[in-house]
This record gives sequence, structure tokens and C-alpha cells, in this order.
Amino acid sequence: MRIGQRLGIGFGIILLLMIGMTIFVSFSLNKIEKIQKTVASHATNVKIINTLKKSIDRWLMTVEYILEKRDLSQLDYHEILEATIEGELDEIDWDIYGVTALKLRDEITQTFNNIEKLDNTVQMSLRLGNKSPETINMDDAINSFEADASHITRVFASLNEIANKTYEQVLVYSKKTEKRSWLSIYVIVPIAIGFSIFNGFATTRSITNPLKLLYTATIKIINGSFDVKLSIKSPTEIEELLNTFNIMSVKLNESYKRLETLSIIDKLTGLYNRRYFDEALEREVLRAKRFNQALGLLFIDIDKFKHINDTYGHDEGDKVLQRLGQLIIGNMRNGIDVACRYGGEEFTIILPETQSYAAFNIANRILNNFRNMKFHIPTKDVIVQKTISIGIAELGQSLDAKTMLVNADKAMYEAKKLGGNRICEYRV
Ligand code: GH3
Ligand code: MG
Ligand code: MG
Repeated sequence: MRIGQRLGIGFGIILLLMIGMTIFVSFSLNKIEKIQKTVASHATNVKIINTLKKSIDRWLMTVEYILEKRDLSQLDYHEILEATIEGELDEIDWDIYGVTALKLRDEITQTFNNIEKLDNTVQMSLRLGNKSPETINMDDAINSFEADASHITRVFASLNEIANKTYEQVLVYSKKTEKRSWLSIYVIVPIAIGFSIFNGFATTRSITNPLKLLYTATIKIINGSFDVKLSIKSPTEIEELLNTFNIMSVKLNESYKRLETLSIIDKLTGLYNRRYFDEALEREVLRAKRFNQALGLLFIDIDKFKHINDTYGHDEGDKVLQRLGQLIIGNMRNGIDVACRYGGEEFTIILPETQSYAAFNIANRILNNFRNMKFHIPTKDVIVQKTISIGIAELGQSLDAKTMLVNADKAMYEAKKLGGNRICEYRV
């Protein structure tokens, strides 16, 4: 996965959690607002219901008094009743108590209507006496009023009960809502924070771990070990970087090997160059000394080589050098002897575990073979033949590689001094 995608998904999840929490909390706030409204309505209702109860009590007392005393001067009970039915009853917010409460309201209204009817009849009969169209038994009226009054009182008691129960339920519900909103905050916020910390940490690690690896690998390459392969689970961009790094390291390694070869091989002849020769001779001298073995060294120089260059051109000189190189390779032991082009037309051969007579034999073979070689010069259509001078040194006479080389060179110079085309062994 890409770093951007990873971060995007992380932030997306956190955003979703936050949105979820906001929605949840705003729902809860909405509920709490409704609860508050219900509670306020309930408080008003309780007040009205209490007033109503008092009105009914007062009315009941008045009715009882009038009917007992047969006293028409007390007429205000009728107004009390009117005010009760038309006024306060309608002020109650019935909806908050549900269907049962609405039924109770209808029951109260119905009872009040009955009372009003009876009340009218009672008043008429009190005012008109025997002339009243409806004769009424006052005791029956009192009983009926009392029955209605106690019915209303009972209904009010039920209404009270429903109101109180509803109020308690609302309180419980409000506590639950509050708890749920806090829970959502307590749960979602730590989850969101925890997740963002985890996501940040994981993303950072997925970048820093491969970077550390890359750093170590770079140090390795700086120190010359190119063969590094990086593999670690990481975001796509980093994996691409690591893969590219791996390809680079392989390419570097290949180039390094090629460079190494180029730096020790002579291009013209394919033999080792002087640089390699110096190291190889040091190595072979040390080894021969450690194992107490013989070591021979040949120093070969073409006689009057300059002449070929001057007469037939440099390219023809090169061909001679190449042929001599091939001749030397053909006369050495593969993997044991080390043949080098030491300089322009000078060649050296290191001969491990070789006594001087054996070294002489090899030198002799090369000398004779070269002497018999025919170089055809196409531009002049002539055949040219060349000779070489060879100096031989052995480790026995020398203390170290440098002296051994000087000795071999001295022997070669001796051969040259004697007219060339010969072999000289170094003598102390
Ligand atoms: P001597 O018998 O004393 O060895 O004489 P010489 O001419 O062989 O030796 P000298 O040192 O005078 O000359 C060596 C010549 O080798 C000089 C130089 O032009 C030539 N030479 C050196 N390197 C190369 C090369 O790579 N190719 C060619 N064609 N010639 C080279
Ligand atoms: Mg020379
Ligand atoms: Mg020469």
C-alpha cells in the first residue's frame, strides 16, 4: 500500500469515528431537549392539577352546604364549576401522559357535563320551587353530586399516578440518555486517539525501518561490499525504492567485477599487467618462503623491438607483442604460473615451485619458439623474425620480491649485453 493511501485510510477512519460521535451526541442532545420540555410541561401540569383539585374540593363543600341548608344565597359554586371545566382542564398538556390520560380527560369532561346538567336542574328547582318543570329529590341530588365528586377525585388520583409514573420514566430515560452520550464520548474518543497514535506509529515505522535498512546497506556499499539484497514489508513507494536499490547494487557489483578485471589485465595481450604482477610476486615470495619451496622468475625483453615500430609501424609492433603473449600463455602451467606484460615489450613469468633448471627449460622453449616465429608484414610483403633476451632469477638468491625482480632484470640485461637472443641466469 502507498504511504498516501495508508494515511488517507487512517484519517478516513478517524473522521468516520468523529462523525459517528457527533451524530450520536447531537441525537442525545435532541432527546435531552425533548426530555427537558416534557419535564417543564409536567411541572405546569402538576400545578394545574393541584389547583383543579382544590377547586373541586371547594365546589363539593359549597354543594353540600347549599343542599343541606336549602340556601340559594350561595350561588357561586356554579361559577367555580364553570371555571374548572372550561379553564384549567384545557390548560393541562395531556399528550405527554399518553392515551390512558386522554381517556381520563374524556371521563372527567363527561362527569363535569353530568354535574352541570344536574346543577342546572337543582338551581331551577331551588329558584322555582313547586313551579319547576322537573321535581327533584334533594337527597338524590346530593348523593349524585357526591358520587360524581368522588368519581372525579378518583380519576384525578389516577391522573396523578400516571403523571408521577411518566415523570419517573422520563427521569430514568434522561439518565440513560446522558449515560449513553458520555459512553459514546468515553469509548469513541479513546478509540480515535488510540487508532490515530497506532496508525501514525505504524506508518512511521513502515518508513523508518526500511530507511534504516537502506542506510546500513549504503554503508556496506561504501565499504566495498556490493552484494546487498534488501527485502522488508513496506509501503509501495519504499518497496519500489528498495527494489531499485537492489538493482543498483547488482549493477554496481557487476561493474565492480568488470572493473577489477580491467584493472589487472593488459588489454593488448590479455596477460596480467604490472600492477597485478607486483602483488602476485609478493604473494608468491611469501608463500614459497613459508612452505620452503622454490620460486623462479623470468624477465623477457624483445631485442631491438623499436626497429619494428620504426620500420613497419606501431600496429605491426602490437601484433608481435600479441604473438609473444600467446606464446608465453602456451608455455605456462595454467593456474600455477603467472604471466604478465611488465612494460612496453617486457614480459615476466612467475614460476612457483620451480627450480632454476626447470625455469631454464621453459625459458629455452619460449626463446626458441619465438626465434622461429615469422611475422608477415602485409604492407611491405616481407617476413620479419625477432629474438628475445631472457633473465632468470630464483628466490634462493633474493631476500624479497623487489630484489628478485631486480635480479631477473639484471640477468636479462646481461643477456642483452652478450648480444641478445639468449638466456642468462642471475649469479651472485
Ligand atoms: P633493446 O634491444 O635494447 O631492448 O632495444 P629495444 O628497441 O627493444 O628497446 P627500447 O627500450 O629502446 O624500445 C622499446 C620500444 O617498445 C619503444 C616503444 O616504442 C615500444 N613500445 C612500447 N610499448 C609498445 C606498445 O604497446 N606497442 C608497440 N607497438 N610498441 C611499444
Ligand atoms: Mg625494453
Ligand atoms: Mg627491447
